[in-house]
Amino acid sequence: MAVDLHSHSTASDGSEKPAALIEQALEIGLNALALTDHDTQDGVADAKVAAASTDLELIPGTELSLEYDAGGMHLVVLWLEPGPGALQDRLQALRLGRDQRNETMAQRLTELGMAVSAEEILEEGGSGSIGRPHIAAVMMRKGYVTTIEEAFELWLSSGRPAYIGRPRLSPEEAIQLARASGAVPILAHPHTLGINRAHEMADLLHRLIPAGLVGLEAFCAGYRRHEREGYADLARRFGLVPAGGSDYHGSYKPGLSLGSGYGDLVVPDAIVDELRSHAGAP
Ligand code: AMP
Ligand code: ZN
Ligand code: FE
Ligand code: FE
Repeated sequence: MAVDLHSHSTASDGSEKPAALIEQALEIGLNALALTDHDTQDGVADAKVAAASTDLELIPGTELSLEYDAGGMHLVVLWLEPGPGALQDRLQALRLGRDQRNETMAQRLTELGMAVSAEEILEEGGSGSIGRPHIAAVMMRKGYVTTIEEAFELWLSSGRPAYIGRPRLSPEEAIQLARASGAVPILAHPHTLGINRAHEMADLLHRLIPAGLVGLEAFCAGYRRHEREGYADLARRFGLVPAGGSDYHGSYKPGLSLGSGYGDLVVPDAIVDELRSHAGAP
């Protein structure tokens, strides 16, 4: 049986409602699904209702973007229960940082000749945690780009003309906060770190493991088999649990399916119990 430990709903930059994700997960026969919306847990309540009295385990979580100059470092946090808590209490400030960043990006795009307003971004994003995929969707609708991917490559990615940063947690702080909340922190899609030397990866893991890192994503969509095996081996060598998921975003990531990713992804369900054994009071 398979699981999916990384997914996004309309609570952040996914196109499907939390209940629709649960429906899809049941249809494809997943055992467990983690909802990991960026900087928010607003989708968890609806997902729990939809998963109640089914055989599907809904794992509440979030995904955080961390301070890391060399590349994109994301942390997937699982078994984070909505409500007050060490990490939970920080999410609102992170969302506020997004809103301010989005407004600045709208101004920058307008200066660059692409009229995108803060209102249009808000309309696209709805009530959720709003991000660059929503900005990309507005750019696409207005004909400035033809795909979301193109919007990132030309304008929105780090280093491109419309990119604006936002406040992030440091890796150590985020990992410690997650553990203090009884949750399980996992280093996400490690290829985005921009590390291609084994000793640099080892140095990074030697930094993050003492802070409380539990898992490393190895089962990611878009990875080839040798990459999944390589990251799984790396995780085990450092005493981490190899984790992963589709990083499903609905129409914001065209061609990517819940559970199976680009068609060949199988996240083994045995890792759920292993990861869960680290959840709970620190
Ligand atoms: P933000 O959280 O607003 O900084 O936006 C980051 C999100 O944008 C990521 O979580 C991805 O969902 C998406 N993203 C990042 N890079 C790309 C890309 N090159 N193409 C499409 N989507 C991307
Ligand atoms: Zn996203
Ligand atoms: Fe991510
Ligand atoms: Fe993600």
